[in-house]
Amino acid sequence: MGADARAAGDRAGSGRRAVGPWTSSFAPRPLLPSLAFLFFLLLVVLGARAARYETCPKVQPDMLNVHLVAHTHDDVGWLKTVDQYFYGIHNDIQRAGVQYILDSVVSSLLANPTRRFIYVEIAFFARWWYQQTKAKQEVVRDLVRQGRLEFANGGWVMNDEASTHYGAIIDQMTLGLRFLEDTFGIDGRPHVAWHIDPFGHSREQASLFAQMGFDGFFFGRLDYQDKAIREQMLEMEQVWRASTSLKPPAADLFTGVLPNMYNPPKDLCWDMLCDDKPVVDNPYSPEYNADKLVKYFLELAAAQGRHYRTNHTIMTMGSDFHYENANMWFKNLDKLIQLVNAQQQASGSRVHVLYSTPACYLRELNKANLTWSVKQDDFFPYADGPHQFWTGYFSSRPALKRYERLSYNFLQVCKQLEALAGPAANVGPYGSGDSTPLSPARLSVPPIGEAVAVLQHHDAVSGTSRQHVADDYAFQLAEGWGPCEVLLSNALALLSGSKENFTYCRELNVSVCPLSQTAARFQVTIYNPLGRKVNWMVRLPVRGGVFSVRDPNGTTVPSEVVILPGSNSQEHPPELLFSASVPALGFSTYSVSRVPKRTPKAHTYRPRPWSRVLVIQNEHIRASFNPDTGLLMKIENLDQNLLLPVRQAFFWYNASTGDYLSPQVSGAYIFRPNQPEPLPVRRWAETRLVKTALVQEVHQNFSAWCSQVVRLYPGQRHLELEWTVGPIPVGDGWGKEVISRFDTTLETDGRFYTDSNGREILERRRNYRPTWDLSQTEPVAGNYYPVNSRIYITDGNMQLTVLTDRSQGGSSLSDGSLELMVHRRLLKDDARGVGEPLQEAGLDGWGPGLWVRGRHLLLLDTARTAAAGHRLLAEKEVLAPQIVLALGGGAPYRLGAAPRTQFSGLHQELPPTVHLLTLARWGPETLLLRLEHQFAVGEDTVGNLSSPVTLDLRNLFSTFTITHLQETMLAANQARDLASRLRWTPSTGLPTQTTPSLLDPAAITLQPMEIRTFLASVEWKEDIYTHSDAPL
Ligand SMILES: [Zn+2]
Repeated sequence: MGADARAAGDRAGSGRRAVGPWTSSFAPRPLLPSLAFLFFLLLVVLGARAARYETCPKVQPDMLNVHLVAHTHDDVGWLKTVDQYFYGIHNDIQRAGVQYILDSVVSSLLANPTRRFIYVEIAFFARWWYQQTKAKQEVVRDLVRQGRLEFANGGWVMNDEASTHYGAIIDQMTLGLRFLEDTFGIDGRPHVAWHIDPFGHSREQASLFAQMGFDGFFFGRLDYQDKAIREQMLEMEQVWRASTSLKPPAADLFTGVLPNMYNPPKDLCWDMLCDDKPVVDNPYSPEYNADKLVKYFLELAAAQGRHYRTNHTIMTMGSDFHYENANMWFKNLDKLIQLVNAQQQASGSRVHVLYSTPACYLRELNKANLTWSVKQDDFFPYADGPHQFWTGYFSSRPALKRYERLSYNFLQVCKQLEALAGPAANVGPYGSGDSTPLSPARLSVPPIGEAVAVLQHHDAVSGTSRQHVADDYAFQLAEGWGPCEVLLSNALALLSGSKENFTYCRELNVSVCPLSQTAARFQVTIYNPLGRKVNWMVRLPVRGGVFSVRDPNGTTVPSEVVILPGSNSQEHPPELLFSASVPALGFSTYSVSRVPKRTPKAHTYRPRPWSRVLVIQNEHIRASFNPDTGLLMKIENLDQNLLLPVRQAFFWYNASTGDYLSPQVSGAYIFRPNQPEPLPVRRWAETRLVKTALVQEVHQNFSAWCSQVVRLYPGQRHLELEWTVGPIPVGDGWGKEVISRFDTTLETDGRFYTDSNGREILERRRNYRPTWDLSQTEPVAGNYYPVNSRIYITDGNMQLTVLTDRSQGGSSLSDGSLELMVHRRLLKDDARGVGEPLQEAGLDGWGPGLWVRGRHLLLLDTARTAAAGHRLLAEKEVLAPQIVLALGGGAPYRLGAAPRTQFSGLHQELPPTVHLLTLARWGPETLLLRLEHQFAVGEDTVGNLSSPVTLDLRNLFSTFTITHLQETMLAANQARDLASRLRWTPSTGLPTQTTPSLLDPAAITLQPMEIRTFLASVEWKEDIYTHSDAPL
C-alpha cells in the first residue's frame, strides 16, 4: 500500500545535486541555471538558517537539564533477518516489528508537539517510507522540518567498527545519508553520529565521521575499567583526534560516552517489552507512585550529572526495538516531565527535564564553551567485565567475513564499469542492471550496494547474528551479484565492442567453473579496478590437457596446467595458469584454446626429499622450510639482503567453558581460552613441492582439517600462505579457536601494529592501554585487536608484515611473535544475547562444520621501506581483478567494429600514492569520485610516497569528460565549502581553521591520508568504443 507514492525516478530526482554552487573556477560549458539548481540554492540558503540547531528545545541555563532522548535501536538483522524484523515475523524468537514502530512513533509525535524522537537505521526507514502514502510522507516531512523527528547517524546501518573496511563504511554511510538528503533535504541531515551498540570503537571510524561533517559522536560501549576512570575524571566527553596525518581539526570529533549504554535508567523503562511500573499520578489510586518516582528521578539525575562537566545530562529512553507501542513510552515520559518540572515551583528543585535529541544535547555542550581533553588512541578491545573481552567477534564467521570483502570488491568493479560505460551499462543487450539504485520499490532482489551496506551492520560482518540470519546475509549478497553481472556484461560489451555470452564463475574459490572445465576454446577478460596496471596470475580449473593462451595482441604467452598434489581430479581439478597484464581501470582479454592430441607435461609434485631443506624462491624472495618439521623456517628478502628466521604453524586455543575465576565462556562475541598456551594442530607437516616455471608451492598438510599452500609466483615480492582450516572437529566436546602463528627472532619490546579499518596504523602494546593503568584479567584475549587488513612487528630495522584477505583478530603475545585467528567453532553461547553457540555446522545445521580457506600475504622489509610494500599490496588485495569468461565469437556491439581486447579507463596511470577509492554513477550525468592519498605522514621516509601529490583531472578519464566539479564532504551529502562543523576547544589548543581553496581540476592536491570527494558533471564521449586512444 502506498508504494507508488514515492517520487518517480530517484536517479532523475537526485541529479540535482550535480549542479551545486560551484567552488570551481572550472566551467568550460556555461550552465543555464535550471529549476533544480534554483531549488537547490534555496535549500542551501534555507539550510544555512534552519538545518542547524534552531529547532532545539529551550533549556534552563541555571539548572541541571536532563535531555530525554526517545529512541529505538533496530538491528538490521540479529536474532531475526532484516525482513523478519521489518515486518514483525517470528515474534516467538524476539518481539520486534519495525514497520509498527515507525507507524506508532509518527502517531505519537502528532499527538503532542513537545515530543521528539530520533531514528537511525535508514535500511529500515527507507523501506517504510516507500510504503507510505503521499499524505503520510508530507506529515513526516513536517515532523522532520520541525525537529520533532530527527535522524541520528543516518547510515544505511549502524556499522560494526572492528571487522569493517573503511571503503565499505564510507559507502554505507553515503547510501543512507543520500536517502535522507534526497528525501528531506537539509532538514533530514544528521549532525550527530550515533554508535550506541557496536562493541568497541575504532579511531578510523571517528576520523571518517569527522570528514563526513558530523559535529559530534555518541556511543555506549567501552571497557568497564576505562569507563569507571572516565566517570571519576570527568572525561566521559572529549575531543577525539582521530588521525595522526590529517591536519586538525579535519579528523577531530567531539565524542561522548552515554551514561547508561543506550538503555533507560533502572525502573524507568516504559516500553511494552519492559515490566517497570507506569507513572501513576492519581493521588487517590492505591497504586499512586508519582511522588516516589519524582524523588528517585531527581536523585538519579544529580548522580548522573556528577560524572559530566556541564549542567546538561542525557538519558536514552528506549532500547532494542522499543516503541512498537510508542504511546506507552510517550505517555509516561509526558507525565514524568510534567511532574519533575513542577517541582521547580513546588520545592525549588533545580532540575529541568525535557524532550531532546542527541543533536540538541550536543549543542548545549558546545555552548558551554569548555576546553576538552584529547583522545588519541581507540576504544579496543572492549570488555564489559573481568575476563569478558569482546575479541572473539573479530574472527567469528570467517567465511561470511570473506564473502563481504569479496562482494565489496565486486561492487566497486560494478560501480566503476557503470561510470565508465555511462547509461549504456544500465540498459543493454543483457537487460537492466544497477549497482546501487535507491530502489524505491525494493522488489524481491536487493541490489548489491544495499546488500553490502547491510553487511556492515554490527551483527552482520561481525559474525554475531544467529545462524539463519547469517545465511540470509549471505543470500542477500548472492542475490545482489546478479544485477551487477548484467551491468558488467552491458559495459564490457560496449567497451569491447563485442556481445559475448559472458559467464561469471562465482565458485572459483573452490575451483569450479563449468565453462573453463568443458570448453575447448574460450576467452578470459580480466578487469582491473586499480588506477595502476597490474600483473595477475590467472588460475582457472580445466579438465586437463595442454592449452595455448594468447594475449590481447594475439601473442602466445607462457601457460601451464598444474595438477595439485595429493588430490584426485574430482576434488581438485587441474588448474590452468597464466600471467595476465591488465591496464589501469581497464581490461585485457586473453584467448585460451586446448591444443589437441598433446600430452601434458607433468607439472605434478615431487615428494619431499628428507635429506635437504625445501626452498622456494624467485628474484625477490627465498623461503626455506625445515627438513624435519616441514614448517617455514626462514624468509629472505633478496633485494635488500634481509634474512629473518620465521617459524609458522597452526595452533588452537581450547575455548573456556567457564572456570573458578569467572563463568564466562568463549562464544560468538567473547574470546576466552581456558589456558594461555595454545595447542599445536601438529608439530610437523607433511610437505610436497610443486615447482614449475609459473609457480612454486610447498603444500603442507598438518591434519585432516588443517593444511596450507605456501606459494611464490615470478616477480612477486611477498610470500603467499593459503590456509585451509575446517571442519574444526568438536567431537571431543571442546570448542576450538584456530590461529596461524609466526615466531621470529625480532626484538619487539612488547609492541605490535594493527591497521584501523584498513587505513591508518595504531601501535599496540602488550598488557597496556595508553590512557589508563590496565588491570589485565585475560593475558591472551585482552591483548587481541582487530586486524582489518594488516598486522606487523618490527625491531626498528626489519619489519614483518602480514596482510589478511578479511578481518581477523590478531596479537603478538610474546616478543617476535605474531598471530591471527583464522577460524573458530564453539559449543556454548557466551550470554550476550545471540542465544546460540557459534557452531557453523553448514548444510542447514546438519553438516560436519565449515571449512574455510584464506590467504595471508607475508612481507619482509626494512622498517623504512615497508609501507611502500604493504600499502600497495593491501590495495591490490581489496580491489582484486574481476575475471569474466566467454566462449568468444560474439556478435559485434555495433556493425563494422572489430572487437577490442584491451582497454583503459584512464589516459594515464595514477601515481602510487593515489588510490581511486570511488568511481560511481551518481545521477544521469553525474559521477561520484573519491581520490585518496594512501600513505600516512612519515610512513615512507626513503621514497617520496608520504609527500603531498597533485593530480590533473581534466583529461584523466578516457570515456568521459568532466565538465563541472564540485567538492563535497566525505559522504557526498554536503558541499565542502558550505559545510561548517561546530568548533570545540581541545586542551592542546585551538586548531587553526582553514577554508577550502578554489577548486582547480588541473591541480587537485592530496595531503597524506587525505580523501577528497567530488561530484563531477560529465559528458560521455559520443561513441565510447571509437575513443580507444587510451595508452595501454
Ligand atoms: Zn545492535
